[in-house]
Formats: sequence, C-alpha cells, structure tokens
Amino acid sequence: MKKFCWNLEGGALCLLQGDITAARVDAVVNAANSSLAGGGGVDGAIHRAAGPQLLEACMRIVAEQGRLPAGQAVTTPGFNMPAKYVIHTVGPIWRGGNAGEPETLRSAWLESLREAEANGAAVVAFPAISTGVYGYPVELAAPLALKTAAESLASMRVEAVHVYLHGESSWQAWSVAARDLLGEP
Ligand code: ADP
Repeated sequence: MKKFCWNLEGGALCLLQGDITAARVDAVVNAANSSLAGGGGVDGAIHRAAGPQLLEACMRIVAEQGRLPAGQAVTTPGFNMPAKYVIHTVGPIWRGGNAGEPETLRSAWLESLREAEANGAAVVAFPAISTGVYGYPVELAAPLALKTAAESLASMRVEAVHVYLHGESSWQAWSVAARDLLGEP
C-alpha cells in the first residue's frame, strides 16, 4: 500500500492508497448525504463494513435533529469497523464553483476535525469528500482540503490526518497537490 507522510507543526498529514473501511484509526470520516441513509461510494462501503447498527444510529440522529446540512458533521460509533467512531459529514455538490462550494467543503473538513477532537480521537481517516458522485473537481478539492487539515493540525489536539485515496487518478491528484503545498514527503 502506498503511503506518504508529512510531519507538520502539530501533527502528521498522510496520504494512503486503500480502502478507508479497513483503516486502524480512532475515527473514520464518512462522505455522507444529508439523509444519513447510506448510499453509494465510500458511504455505502462504510455502512456495509460497520453493519446495520450504523444505519439505526444514523436514523436516530435524523429523527432527533433532522437532516444534516452540508458542511456540518455528527459522530456515531464505528460498530463492526476497526475505527471506534464514524464522523458523518456532508460535502457540497459541485454546481460550477460559485455556489459556496469551497466554503462548504472547508467547513465539512473543519467540522469533522472538531468532532474528532471533541471525542478525543488522535488519528482520523478522511476520504476525498465530494470528489466522487458530488462532482467537485479533485484538482480543486485536494489543495483546499489539505490546507484546511494542515492548518488545523497546528491548533488542534488531533495528532494525525490520514487521507485514504481510492484509485490511481485520485492518488495522483492528491500527491501533486500535497507536494505543491507541503514540499517533498
Ligand atoms: P461524494 O458523494 O462526497 O462525492 P463518493 O463516495 O462518491 O462521495 O466519493 C468520494 C471519494 O471516495 C471518491 O474519490 C471515491 O473514489 C472514494 N471512495 C469510494 N470508496 C472508497 C473506499 N472504500 N475507501 C476510500 N475511498 C473510497
């Protein structure tokens, strides 16, 4: 498995190629949708790996507080996954870039990191939020997400962010963005 890490002020930022559902971390972030009902892509994979209790927990949250707006995050247990927690966030749907997509994507990363910190999670795994079905161009999403994570590590108790990338093109785009922003790993 490919893995590159950058040791930054306040913690480590790593890119890994692989399946996030197998990540041995404290918390896995899910690129969910507002209904928290599961779906395709990484969301479906996380629900399959965690088991049916995850959907029950999500449905309880929606019953209590309604749909999860884009840019926000909530936490459930990880159930059958190695990770103790799943942090569900909703990224923006790409509508051309002038509908607040960058602010919403930044917020999804930040609010997920705040949830991780609030739950005492030291190592957090993220997927490439919004860059699948939601259509956010990966060349734009990767630098924004990496900058947000790098800045947050400096000020938060979270010790490491592991970005799990699925597929070669995703890996390439994030590697280029990380080198541009952070230098050689
Ligand atoms: P969104 O709806 O936020 O765009 P998707 O699940 O469609 O979310 O895609 C987000 C990213 O997650 C894509 O790059 C996709 O290839 C990747 N992905 C899909 N399955 C997995 C997995 N099991 N582990 C890590 N990343 C995954």
